[in-house]
Amino acid sequence: MQPTEYDLVIVGGGLAGLSLACALRDTRLRIALVEQQAPCRPAGWDARVYAVSPANTRFLQEIGAWKHMAAERIAPIQAMHVFGDGVARLDFSAYQSGIPELGWILESSLMACELWENAKRQGNLTLLCPGTPARLEMHSEAAVLTLTDGSALSARLLVGADGRDSWVREAQGLQAIDTPYGELGLVANFDCQRPHRGIARQWFRADGVLAWLPMAGDRISIVWSTADDHARQLLALAPDDLCERVAAAGNHELGVLRPLTPAAAFPLRLMRVPRTVAPRRPWSAMRRTVFTRFPATESTSATRTRKCWPTCWQRRPTGRTSAASACCPAISGSDARKRS
Ligand SMILES: Cc1cc2nc3c(=O)[nH]c(=O)nc-3n(C[C@H](O)[C@H](O)[C@H](O)COP(=O)(O)OP(=O)(O)OC[C@H]3O[C@@H](n4cnc5c(N)ncnc54)[C@H](O)[C@@H]3O)c2cc1C
Repeated sequence: MQPTEYDLVIVGGGLAGLSLACALRDTRLRIALVEQQAPCRPAGWDARVYAVSPANTRFLQEIGAWKHMAAERIAPIQAMHVFGDGVARLDFSAYQSGIPELGWILESSLMACELWENAKRQGNLTLLCPGTPARLEMHSEAAVLTLTDGSALSARLLVGADGRDSWVREAQGLQAIDTPYGELGLVANFDCQRPHRGIARQWFRADGVLAWLPMAGDRISIVWSTADDHARQLLALAPDDLCERVAAAGNHELGVLRPLTPAAAFPLRLMRVPRTVAPRRPWSAMRRTVFTRFPATESTSATRTRKCWPTCWQRRPTGRTSAASACCPAISGSDARKRS
């Protein structure tokens, strides 16, 4: 089947892929986004929340997503109280810093669904959902992506925004070095007896780091980063017992806690991806050039990779032009350093 031509193909419609697509809405680029499953909102509240910085809020405003998000589900962070393992304590606030708020807390699915709605309205974007990639071929003119339904797309630039276990990264043979921390991040939401007053609280405890994040209304979302065994013990507790453990760990600062969502836990791991960009040409040729000169152990950070990239480029032995514009890269959108 003849591939449908685009300027850019993005694989993965999570926050990274969707926000990239939305940020390109005013360009002339023809964009396709392949996603296997559209985001959806859970009933009630989502236990997975984001702390969004003012800079990221501005970005979401610029791409037209922020104003559509339900304001009653978003909580400003007005202050932070950080408790050390001894008597140490650090307090700071938006007021002291002369800014309206330190950031915002909002549910992951709220942001994902709004970006998805934005993307659906975008004229230069084709959403292919459900869509699952089956094969990726690199040609001198374009990357060709074949989906499991047999359809094919081509583009000069292909972006892998398909998460930590990226299929695109695998298909391009980009190395990922995974280091588990031996910890889980336990998350859950609670109703609180006392108002949180927009204060995010964090305790550096012997058993891990506990964060209480203010949500809209008298609610908090917690992240307890703690050793696997301890996290599993907490997960096994009855909801009321977990409430009491969390309240006690936070010195009952907000009075009695009541469960709002079941607890969930995510493994915490450090993932390093030494190279996040690969040239659009057959992988076998790339191995002969880039990796013989720059083995993975030499380039252990994204910064380093960027620095050495032009040098790799000029050393291509294929005899073809070395002009960068003649050969667009495929980009793996997975973070170079990721904790989740
Ligand atoms: C509890 C928790 C709290 C977090 N809090 C924060 C925070 O406050 N701030 C922060 O910056 N980060 C936070 N993170 C990390 C953050 O969630 C991730 O870094 C972020 O989701 C990565 O976004 P992404 O779009 O790259 O990947 P993902 O969100 O994983 O999205 C990948 C998308 O690609 C799709 N996909 C995957 N494979 C394929 C395939 N083969 N074909 C088609 N589609 C595919 C998936 O369906 C998905 O939609 C948190 C993580 C957790 C678990």
